[in-house]
Amino acid sequence: MIPVQGFDGLQVAVLGLGRSGLTAARALRAGGAVPLCWDDNPQARAAAEVEGFELRDLSRAGGFEGVALLVVSPGIPHLYPAPNPYVSMAWAAGVPVDNDIGLFFRSFATEDWSDYDSPPKVVAVTGSNGKSTTSALIAHVLGAAGKPVQLAGNIGRGVLDIDEPDDGGVVVLELSSYQTDLARALTPDIAVFTNLSADHLDRHAGMGGYFAAKRRLFAEGGPDRAVIGVDEFEGQYLANQMSEGAGDDRVIRVSSGQKLTGAGWTVFARKGFLSEYRKGKQIGSIDLRQIKGLPGAHNHQNACAAYAVCRALGLAPRMIEQGFASYGGLPHRSQIVAEAGGVTYVNDSKATNVDSAAKALSAFKRIRWICGGLEKEGGVASLSAAAGEVIKAYVIGREAAGFAVQLQGVDAEVCTTMEEAVRRASAEAQAGDTVLLAPAAASFDQYDNFERRGEDFMAQVAAVTGAP
Ligand code: ADP
Repeated sequence: MIPVQGFDGLQVAVLGLGRSGLTAARALRAGGAVPLCWDDNPQARAAAEVEGFELRDLSRAGGFEGVALLVVSPGIPHLYPAPNPYVSMAWAAGVPVDNDIGLFFRSFATEDWSDYDSPPKVVAVTGSNGKSTTSALIAHVLGAAGKPVQLAGNIGRGVLDIDEPDDGGVVVLELSSYQTDLARALTPDIAVFTNLSADHLDRHAGMGGYFAAKRRLFAEGGPDRAVIGVDEFEGQYLANQMSEGAGDDRVIRVSSGQKLTGAGWTVFARKGFLSEYRKGKQIGSIDLRQIKGLPGAHNHQNACAAYAVCRALGLAPRMIEQGFASYGGLPHRSQIVAEAGGVTYVNDSKATNVDSAAKALSAFKRIRWICGGLEKEGGVASLSAAAGEVIKAYVIGREAAGFAVQLQGVDAEVCTTMEEAVRRASAEAQAGDTVLLAPAAASFDQYDNFERRGEDFMAQVAAVTGAP
């Protein structure tokens, strides 16, 4: 637990009592503050009461009286599509609004660090896709190299729930745009921007607001190093803004596809090879094609970002290569779940949008593609262009027939259920084929979440292959 500093003896309202809200309340209490908890859901309030927290109905007149700060959960809109009413009330009462990430950054460093040989460091990862993979990969490589590392934020533990760091410890944080948009303190040592594509536009009033939210991680905190994916113009703009000139190596530019060999510091992947250049000279290279846990150009982009962070923390290229080799991948992201009769089965249930599904489709050959579910805005017709390696699609979901019709030029069979799709794909697959679940849609028409969908896929694969 990271006790929150700066509010000793003060009342702090905590709105939203899910995992992050309750953790914030505990960390505030540990730092001497008096948390006043609220959630519209009576069950969530009851859970807070069980832990002995005081409840405060913030909606009643004077609800914000004596309150020094309001802490809100990421699920609560603070600006668009419209500010949550409690947030507006806090503004009207002149109460600052923050989140657990802001509390973390203001509380992380302590006086004990003066006895440490190397002060702990924070790496914060943001971007549209690949945040979890990049964060997990950084933590894995550092851990394999013997560094004390903790993974937190959207992945791993709640950010205020981590242990107080050891001498030389590293905390890797995965941060969403909701979190970077609101946090009042954002001071990572190393900040990472993976890439940008449209997502969560309603919460940011469009693409400009979405990019601005992510950009705060760089603009507000002034990290010592910025690792920036430059495959979109927003990343190029950000890298340019963060550097003083071509040779400024506080910025490490990263690309999947482009050769970057200027005067600065770069890491890029081309045709499956990662290269590191500094001041125009090649420093390191890794053959990523051998790394089972990181298939496809999108994962090579994640590998480049993770490599850059580890280099900035002083790891040798050889150590990073060893860490990559033992990285097993995250569940539901390009996860190889079985190999039987020469057929590979891959679970990419996290491909909930068209962009991530297109990336998965370009990562494998001879694909039998299981797709479908609850369609997102904009439809899926654009995926036809990415389906060059698809032999056949097996479409699931309540609206499977409508989904299949949009896949122009792709041989598509309406299967509706996962059981039928896996059974059919497996029956038709030849040695050398890949059966890939990459739905390009949300799961909520048939499942509680993408994890359940991925688990169902794995269970059906186990049933047809006899794998454990
Ligand atoms: P995030 O945490 O940003 O959602 P994940 O690592 O969980 O990212 O991956 C989410 C989805 O996006 C998965 O389907 C994955 O295969 C795909 N993906 C992973 N890395 C990238 C990348 N660099 N670019 C595009 N898509 C990616």
